[in-house]
Amino acid sequence: MDKIVALCKRRGLIFPASEIYGGIANTYDYGHYGVLLKRNVVDAWWDAMLQERDDVVALDSAIIQHPKTWESSGHLAGFTDPLVDCKTCKKRFRADHLAEARENPDSQPEIRCGRKPSQLPGDTPDCDLTEPREFNLMFETAIGPVQGGGTRVFLRPETAQGIFLDFKTVLTFARRRPPFGIAQVGKSFRNEITPGNFIFRTLEFEQMEMEFFVPPDQAADWYEHWKQARFDWYVKLGLRPDHLRLRDHDEDELSHYSSGTADVEYLFPIGWSELEGIANRGNFDLTAHGNGSGKAIEVVDPELGRYVPHVIEPAAGVGRSMLAFLADAYDEEELGTAEKSDIRTVLRLHPKLAPVKAAILPLVKKDGQPELAAEVQSLLKARMQTEYDEGGSIGKRYRRQDEIGTPWCITIDHESLEDRTVTVRDRDSLQQERIPIDQLADELSLRLARPWVSPKVAG
Ligand code: ATP
Repeated sequence: MDKIVALCKRRGLIFPASEIYGGIANTYDYGHYGVLLKRNVVDAWWDAMLQERDDVVALDSAIIQHPKTWESSGHLAGFTDPLVDCKTCKKRFRADHLAEARENPDSQPEIRCGRKPSQLPGDTPDCDLTEPREFNLMFETAIGPVQGGGTRVFLRPETAQGIFLDFKTVLTFARRRPPFGIAQVGKSFRNEITPGNFIFRTLEFEQMEMEFFVPPDQAADWYEHWKQARFDWYVKLGLRPDHLRLRDHDEDELSHYSSGTADVEYLFPIGWSELEGIANRGNFDLTAHGNGSGKAIEVVDPELGRYVPHVIEPAAGVGRSMLAFLADAYDEEELGTAEKSDIRTVLRLHPKLAPVKAAILPLVKKDGQPELAAEVQSLLKARMQTEYDEGGSIGKRYRRQDEIGTPWCITIDHESLEDRTVTVRDRDSLQQERIPIDQLADELSLRLARPWVSPKVAG
């Protein structure tokens, strides 16, 4: 993890926020390459949800919703109740529920240790419980300029609730009937008690969530469909399959409304941890908001009649996926000799995710090479993210690009001026080949579209 954090800082991908003031609890800023990588991850998710299917529509709902939203969803419960946190499994329990569970474990099936779901919190030496204290997961603010006045509102702790609130509106405008999904990407905020581990767990983070609404008798099949589809998405984007697994939650880990939850887990440097959750949420959410608002949220179907759809939810984190892609891609390769070590640090990212696809590098800053390099860059610009670099030795420039995961370095040399060919250096194989300038854009576009397997898997 330390090496990834150092690389991200060195190359300006991700670095602590408010650093000039000493930073602020687990909050990070994304620099140029971090923004590009993040955009590619989110784009790949949108492609999988929208472009590659025709049963999901997009939504962008507000961060601050009506405060009743969080009463109905259950997020406000525990707001005034003292809570006990476990610093080990990171689960939070209502102190009164925990006390009841101690007296009668069967009365509180939800109160279980996050690491050993069959045991009560505090029953294993691993548990590290805090004293009971009032604590709210949600960040609170107020609408209105008067200090201490106004309406108390919350920053959303997940994007999903906005989707449930808008379900009926989307149903009408999108002219859909279940099975269909509503997808959203956006910031969420959680006043996490135990933030840490770089961007794995932060106070503000971006989520990619999709709520898939189905007739109740189709829920089990769609749940299986989405578990597999989401697992496959990570494999397709190059994560090593032996570092990924689907873990079904045990009965006693499930929320009371969930009839099935599975996590896509990745073998992070901190160990196997959740990358994404896929939950079969039943009709809990739509029923809760129907009751809360006094307006039933139902679908009228010519065959099935009137019913409340069930929901399958794949919920992923953008930052957490980025961390998995970075961890999986990070590699160090010895290129030196027995006498003199020379270690190349390289991010073996899927070319689709790589912040920059092609770096344009004139060998020297004279003899017309920069001008030809500019021409080459303008040919590629319309198709992919490029970067021009003429500073420093060619070796140093290659290494800079390796560290940000650029799959192809295009070198312009004296021969290029004579025969209009360039050298394309492959990040992973280090092979170099000459390609005519006029064919370069098509050739790199083809390579970008090809299925890709990490060289770490390929051998
Ligand atoms: P965890 O158990 O790790 O706290 P969770 O089960 O509470 O996660 P969900 O509410 O299911 O998470 O959110 C879906 C996804 O959002 C998670 O799989 C994760 O990728 C991401 N996520 C949740 N909380 C955070 C956070 N504090 N920082 C970064 N990403 C987060």
